[in-house]
Amino acid sequence: MRLARIAGALSAVVLAATMTACGSSQKTVDTQASADSGGGAAGALIGVTMPTKSSERWIHDGDNVRSQLEKLGYKVDLQYAENDIPTQANQIENQITKGAKLLIVASIDGTALTSQLQQAADNKIPVIAYDRLIRNSPNVDYYATFDNFKVGVQQATSLLKGLGVDGGKKGPFNVELFGGSPDDNNATFFWNGAMSVLKPKIDDGTLKVKSGQTDFKTAAILRWDPATAQRRMEDLLTKSYTGDAKVDGVLSPYDGLSIGILSALKSNGYGTGAQKYPVVTGQDAELASVKSIIADEQYSTIFKDTRKLAETTVKMADAVLKGGKPEVNNTTDYDNGNKVVPSYLLDPVIVDKDNYKDVIVGGGYYTEDQLK
Ligand code: BGC
Repeated sequence: MRLARIAGALSAVVLAATMTACGSSQKTVDTQASADSGGGAAGALIGVTMPTKSSERWIHDGDNVRSQLEKLGYKVDLQYAENDIPTQANQIENQITKGAKLLIVASIDGTALTSQLQQAADNKIPVIAYDRLIRNSPNVDYYATFDNFKVGVQQATSLLKGLGVDGGKKGPFNVELFGGSPDDNNATFFWNGAMSVLKPKIDDGTLKVKSGQTDFKTAAILRWDPATAQRRMEDLLTKSYTGDAKVDGVLSPYDGLSIGILSALKSNGYGTGAQKYPVVTGQDAELASVKSIIADEQYSTIFKDTRKLAETTVKMADAVLKGGKPEVNNTTDYDNGNKVVPSYLLDPVIVDKDNYKDVIVGGGYYTEDQLK
């Protein structure tokens, strides 16, 4: 019941961001701060665009980026687009019109912003891709994110731990696989990372995917929508788990999807009496999911400290605006189809019932009280 309610709330679109009519006629020319005008960066306007408020992580991201930029004296225009691509494109154009000196963009569709980024380049406005790479554009200067391939490896590793495979259990275990949104560059990194661990186990018969749906395209959930994941799980249960067959594990790449998946499982009798929930993974350590882990529903999540991502991005922005070179630690992995974007990758951490107290509470991400 609780799960169903949360799934409903998650899929509900939260207030659409107010859209202002935009035009690109009032371009500000040559607004980039240069080394000799380090002071020119002071008080500059920075445009920050985030995908949606329907997932808690992006609210944390936006708040953290804004407050850290403001601490350095910048002005911030922070916008959410409720996963609507034209809205996000308009917000970026609008920020350019308002005279933003730098843009920080967490894209919805990573391939849909080419013309907005060209407009930014024409106005000498540097662009930092936040968490998600923006594709098909030469006008992405830097990228701050987590090691996305590693996130997938960790999700799969945790799935195997939950099933007991790493403790020597041979299976076979029935698992089903979910992928993220196909227009999000991260989603294939997560999938490829996970499959690098799971495929050998599928090949040697330890894991069985009864639905036969083992390719990213079929498993992908557009716009990371929890309700779509719930429907797909219901479908899988109806078609592939008739008779005595049970699901033992589900690879889920995001907490919101995990909640939808658990809802579908619950309405099919899992999580009651002797029928335990399968091992369900996740990502983002969203509050509802950490609570769900504590309640033995969801098995694990991947914690990506949005405070650190904000800090890394803000440092990058500040360095660029002052005419310096931001620190990067990866110059090979993130080819956006046009160029390899210099990146800073942070480390994700697996969180399950064994370590949530240390990592999440100990790290000050949530208090014990919030988790009650
Ligand atoms: C982010 C994940 C998040 C997903 C859905 C991805 O781009 O990296 O942290 O779970 O989007 O919002």
